Amino acid sequence: MAQVLLGCIADDFTGATDLANSLVRGGMRVVQTVGVPASPLGSAADAVVIALKSRTIPAAQAIAQSLAALRWLQAQGCRQFFFKYCSTFDSTPAGNIGPVAEALMDHLGVDFTVATPAFPDNGRTVFQGHLFVGDVLLNESGMQNHPLTPMKDPNLVRVLQAQCRRRVGLLDHATVARGAEAIGERRVALKAAGVGVAIADAMTNEDLLRLGAALKDLPLVTGGSGLALGLPANFGLKPSDAASELPRARGSRAIVSGSCSDATKRQLADFVALGGAALAIDPLRLASDQPVVQEALAWAAARLARGPVLVYSTAAAGVVKAVQGRLGSEGAGALVERALAMIASGLVECGVRQLVVAGGETSGACVQALGIEQLQIGPQIDPGVPWCHAAARHAPGGLHVALKSGNFGSDDFFTKAFAMLA
Ligand code: ADP
Repeated sequence: MAQVLLGCIADDFTGATDLANSLVRGGMRVVQTVGVPASPLGSAADAVVIALKSRTIPAAQAIAQSLAALRWLQAQGCRQFFFKYCSTFDSTPAGNIGPVAEALMDHLGVDFTVATPAFPDNGRTVFQGHLFVGDVLLNESGMQNHPLTPMKDPNLVRVLQAQCRRRVGLLDHATVARGAEAIGERRVALKAAGVGVAIADAMTNEDLLRLGAALKDLPLVTGGSGLALGLPANFGLKPSDAASELPRARGSRAIVSGSCSDATKRQLADFVALGGAALAIDPLRLASDQPVVQEALAWAAARLARGPVLVYSTAAAGVVKAVQGRLGSEGAGALVERALAMIASGLVECGVRQLVVAGGETSGACVQALGIEQLQIGPQIDPGVPWCHAAARHAPGGLHVALKSGNFGSDDFFTKAFAMLA
């Protein structure tokens, strides 16, 4: 099999898909793996994205997993490595972005890298080291209230410095806007000033393309999926439909949604308004051992021949709060994830071969239940969400899956996704 060019390590699952999607758009054939692969690659790839679940685990574990991933990618002959994290820079003062980046640098023996979560297509921009989400600073975007990684400081130089041994500096927008030569000169100056990691400003895709070109010789880059826009060209690849080609879609269609994000709620309402078949599952009935999964599968089996079916736990904030009050938020989350994963697996057993999953954690649970280890990345449905093709436990010949992080996708996402495969 041909040599893999770019080796990527992502700190969560839907983030990995988002990165893979950007690379495919740039002309790379991409395989995403769930954890460090135990088996050889199932198909030829220019880039491999290893999806870890290392965003909020203890830093020492995140480092160990990331280094294992790096060693595997090195064994595939990768020429450049990419550490991918969230475009809202989700981390705690203890990490894990800084500690993992530095461990990768130490292992590769490099003394400089960049960090930028900028993803203009999704409204994430970085200026003077400050991260904006849409038109507000990170710490006013809602991220200041995140349950696991509250982001209370929008100044990423300061945020990353708190996590790093090396000095953190700024590759400012005025430099980035001037292009590769200016970026190269600034890199030299930053290194001379003792900077090991530079937050790179980027406000547009053009900025990211300029950065990508200027970072061609860096063994390690770190950032959000936006930074990936400029990397395929460094390997002589151009955007092409061939990179995103997947096998022909067949079989029944279904959606499983455990996301309670606003975008998902709108998508659910749109699907139902267009006459789509949808069934809600009730976490309180699950908690009292009612046969919710079996009922949902029987309901779906009777309808699959007529078109896509949707099974969801998606609910309004007040309803979720009430359930959490009874079951605890972690308890409710795990219970619902487990049930939806069993439903996804049962649907595939019933012949579903085109499956959309809404929700980051829900996607992780479904992928695990389906026994998916590798995904070939196909065409983009909406920014950050591609169709993928993967072998699964009840679908050895493979199925098409789209794994949608909660807040991604237009209101007609569910309908649009299936139309794309038709
Ligand atoms: P998103 O990407 O929108 O954040 P996730 O799947 O990552 O979606 O997270 C949603 C979490 O909420 C999951 O743990 C899921 O099990 C849980 N959940 C979903 N529906 C309900 C509900 N009705 N009541 C309580 N928790 C729920």
